[in-house]
Amino acid sequence: MASSEKYIQSKLDERKLQGNYRALSPESGLIDFCSNDYLGFARSTVLKDNIRRETASHPQSLNGATGSRLISGNSAYTEELETQIAAFHQAETGLMFNSGYDANVGLFSSLPQKGDTIICDELVHASIIDGARLSYANRYIFRHNDLESLEGKLKNAKGICYVVIESVYSMDGDTPPIAEILQLTQQYGGHLIVDEAHAVGLYAAGLVSHLNLQDKVFARLVTFGKALGCHGAIVLGSDMLREYLINFARSFIYTTAAPFHQLAAIKAAYSLLKTSSADIAQLHANIGLFKMNLCVNNAYPLLHSDSAIQCLILGDNHKAKYAAIQLQNAGLDVRAILSPTVAQGSERIRICIHAYNTSEEISLLTSTINNIIHEI
Ligand code: PLP
Repeated sequence: MASSEKYIQSKLDERKLQGNYRALSPESGLIDFCSNDYLGFARSTVLKDNIRRETASHPQSLNGATGSRLISGNSAYTEELETQIAAFHQAETGLMFNSGYDANVGLFSSLPQKGDTIICDELVHASIIDGARLSYANRYIFRHNDLESLEGKLKNAKGICYVVIESVYSMDGDTPPIAEILQLTQQYGGHLIVDEAHAVGLYAAGLVSHLNLQDKVFARLVTFGKALGCHGAIVLGSDMLREYLINFARSFIYTTAAPFHQLAAIKAAYSLLKTSSADIAQLHANIGLFKMNLCVNNAYPLLHSDSAIQCLILGDNHKAKYAAIQLQNAGLDVRAILSPTVAQGSERIRICIHAYNTSEEISLLTSTINNIIHEI
């Protein structure tokens, strides 16, 4: 019989050899240029106090949900919160999942059936790919943000067709031409699903409603673990879609519901988001400052992005790791994104800008990057 230990060791050795071995590290204490806490909600003392108040005002609440939503884990509070969140995003309704990963896996594994078609942008998040893989539908990818490539796939689509994009791509930080993609999708009778994980906060309720396209998009995914600073996610769509997911989405059905303190945190975070226009403006100003101060060259381009996610392409794992280490040595928490997470040749450092980064921190970041790209 073959040995599992030998297999595990050989795969780990392979990773080390390729320079893409992953290891966990505790909090670094460095200046944060890598977290998804774009508006600083995760560290907000105002939010912390509001969560404490919200929790205290519900003394009967339980420490844990005690079961799945369909057994003992549901509450009026959960359903009211879903209604409030859906209203904020101008959606008919919403269904919460324990994470964005769960939401995408639940949606894409349950909705498209054998004979249907899922067409994804090539850069969609792993949770969408994993969900689609669990379905029996035909799966295609189109070239990133490329309408011609999308149309080619739409022409061959069979059954019910779902086109899937992100409004801000998690690894590139760029934004697709949503209105054009929607128009093309509708021209072929398809349904557009938009993952708004990294757009909510940057554009308050997300880019879809910012563009006033909420009534034409079939479904949206919003996560609470990024700009909202909490944890969990919601699928926004029609009442019928919600009913369907409650009946068929296995990652919703077969898991313990979120505990009350998580729901209270989400509720408080949404209240804070409604009064955060100054923080949102500061985030956009900081993104602008970063881009203005960076001296990019053709060898190591900065991907086009107006979002909080800014990526400098270094083109191999070793260079990306070297640059990240130099930045960390300068006190800046910037991480390398290696292949296979991104395509070979597009290994990079991925910088996340936040509303709470000071102009001095951003200057230190850009001057350090400017020096590094001259020496590699
Ligand atoms: N969708 C996108 C685009 C993401 O970037 C992520 C997280 O990285 C997810 C979904 C998953 O969300 P969560 O972290 O809540 O599981």
